[in-house]
Amino acid sequence: MQRRKLGKTALEISVLGFGTSPFGNVFRDTDPQDNRDAVDAAVDAGINFFDVSPYYGLTLAEERLGWTLEGKRQKVVLATKCGRYGVEEFDFSATRIRREVEASLRRLRTDYVDLLQAHDIEFASFDQIIQEAIPTMRELQAEGKARYIGITGYPVGMLKRVAEQVPVDSILSYCRYNLMNTDIEAELAPFAEEREIGLINASPLMMGVLTDRGAPTWHQGSERLKDAGRRAAIAAAQHGVNISSLALQFAVAHPTVTSTLVGMATAEQVKENLRSVESAVNPAVLSEIQSAIGNGFTTTWLTGLPENADYTEEVS
Ligand code: NAD
Repeated sequence: MQRRKLGKTALEISVLGFGTSPFGNVFRDTDPQDNRDAVDAAVDAGINFFDVSPYYGLTLAEERLGWTLEGKRQKVVLATKCGRYGVEEFDFSATRIRREVEASLRRLRTDYVDLLQAHDIEFASFDQIIQEAIPTMRELQAEGKARYIGITGYPVGMLKRVAEQVPVDSILSYCRYNLMNTDIEAELAPFAEEREIGLINASPLMMGVLTDRGAPTWHQGSERLKDAGRRAAIAAAQHGVNISSLALQFAVAHPTVTSTLVGMATAEQVKENLRSVESAVNPAVLSEIQSAIGNGFTTTWLTGLPENADYTEEVS
């Protein structure tokens, strides 16, 4: 498994990263032993980057990841988050960040994380992220609780504006670089490359849209987007290809992205995704699937405070 340096940090992370929101039963119920087997299979194959948050399953994913990583902590680069604790529960205050990071460390059965990220910053005021959240995270870094710090969120414009104002070690963007939407290309990826900030691309399967099973009920994408996902799955099957496999191959080929984070819950998924990234995308099939999807999916959904939304955002 190829590894890349995360921006200017000393972290070398696998180009395929392990997203653990499925451990929190975010998409459907998953079995803890299956989750543990998935982590074992991933570590054995050289996947070393694991991402979690106290938000996923309201602490369940952290609990399970802490359990699965027992005895393996030193083999992995462990990332968690702070600031988001529920669908509607956000608190980027210094006091809450400090308290919650301690709780995350207990659940993760470790005394430090490699990367601490402010989770979904578009739900906070720009000023609070700059003046309170990031300085508190830097203090925690100085205290040895986190080796590096980063930001995550959906509006690519806000991610860039925050990183322009205050140095961060990584930026995680989700659902903005995949077979349907390539919004990081315009500004965020060139900016991250120029500043040497580690860029993490999450949700290459568009949070389930680009799978045979389809999107979960809570998915914020429009029906038009979900229909396009179904068309893509059918077209891929007609070419003897699995849509998730093609979607993952497309995403990991991005040259600036340090790691592509895909959510996984079982060893079978890990093995399938490893096979996908180890083989090259078939350009003819890719072009057929892109035609089946069609254009116009730069239209995205609104999330977070209205003032933090991307200028191009609209609800279809
Ligand atoms: P995703 O696009 O990776 O899709 C995950 C879904 O696809 C899950 O249901 C999973 O079971 C399924 N899947 C995985 N491999 C498959 C395969 N080969 N065939 C069929 N189905 C497959 O979406 P995601 O999980 O939301 O994103 C990946 C990770 O990125 C998350 O787990 C999380 O760690 C991170 N993330 C972070 C943020 C944030 O910080 N704001 C947002 C989104 C995602």
